Amino acid sequence: MSAEGKVAVITGSTSGIGLGIAKGFADAGIHVVINGFGDESEIKKELDELQAKGVTAIYNDADMTKPDEISQLVEDTVNELGSIDIVINNAGIQNVQPVEEFPVEKWDAIIAINMSSAFHTVRAAIPYMKKQGWGRIINIASAHALVASPYKSAYVTAKHGVLGFTKTIGLEVAKDNITCNAICPGYVWTPLVEGQVKDTAKARNLTENEVINDVLLAAQWTKKFVTVEQLAGTALFLCSDHAENITGTHIAVDGGWTAA
Ligand code: NAD
Repeated sequence: MSAEGKVAVITGSTSGIGLGIAKGFADAGIHVVINGFGDESEIKKELDELQAKGVTAIYNDADMTKPDEISQLVEDTVNELGSIDIVINNAGIQNVQPVEEFPVEKWDAIIAINMSSAFHTVRAAIPYMKKQGWGRIINIASAHALVASPYKSAYVTAKHGVLGFTKTIGLEVAKDNITCNAICPGYVWTPLVEGQVKDTAKARNLTENEVINDVLLAAQWTKKFVTVEQLAGTALFLCSDHAENITGTHIAVDGGWTAA
């Protein structure tokens, strides 16, 4: 059985990976709640495109730094779409600076958005999933949940935390027909990575081309950026019945990065 007809909340889905997953899910007949910041008319355009695929698509503006708004996102989803079956914790930001220069407010924001928001969505959604006897939680972590890179202290910390959280929740709800897994992508060409190219060039005193070839794709053995479509496909697999016994673990989609 596929997840057709289910309701998915995808945090941070006005752009990049989240939007790619929303599109892949809508193509598979899954109703979607998109979330994140962005231009109102752009968001409206994305919603129209998602709805044109024949599913219900709504937007919720919850700020992933705010626990109350995250609980409300879950409540609004159930009130407006009838259930919450799938949660994709995807919202994330990055900051690349040596630790002694790392702004405290950036550290706090990265821990809140990239890690704690997953706790808040899961905490609010699990009672509904238990009641209906089905749920899928997918945390978009990173290769940086498994290995580190310099100058990304907050990001690497948050992503390692997300993986620990994933394992814990996988165990807690194992008997409730709810699975919790992480997807650990390598470098995906999205606005987040585009922004990092500039920052990394500055932090490491390299050209932007050198950052792409010698830093970003240096560890990606396939020498290809991961695509958002590949990540949507991985998430759909984790929502399918074939993945019923996969829980508390991660799937690396990183071109071999973390194998080396
Ligand atoms: P992106 O910048 O394209 O998208 C990030 C999304 O998060 C946007 O929709 C943005 O509006 C939203 N967001 C940011 N702050 C928010 C907040 N406070 N509340 C709600 N939404 C907020 O980034 P992306 O590359 O698509 O990254 C998505 C996720 O994938 C992140 O968790 C990132 O760490 C992870 N990831 C990305 C890559 C990559 O190479 N791009 C690799 C591994 C993991």
